[in-house]
Amino acid sequence: MRCTDCGSPLSYDEIGLTKKLVRRDAQNCFCLPCLAKKFDVPESRLREKTEEYRAAGCLLFVQPEGLKGSREESR
Ligand SMILES: [Zn+2]
Repeated sequence: MRCTDCGSPLSYDEIGLTKKLVRRDAQNCFCLPCLAKKFDVPESRLREKTEEYRAAGCLLFVQPEGLKGSREESR
């Protein structure tokens, strides 16, 4: 998938963030710089939000390995 505004390739996190900020079933996704422009916030703020959602375990964002709930079994 590519950014609707500028055509750059999108990361999974950017698509997830679009869904969080725009709407869950957004068809048009945007890269971080374009989202920042759209919502008039600094890119750094969007990165913070991404990390917040990730830390909350939101599946729209890439989750770190090992946090997927099988820690008990792998011991
Ligand atoms: Zn863009």
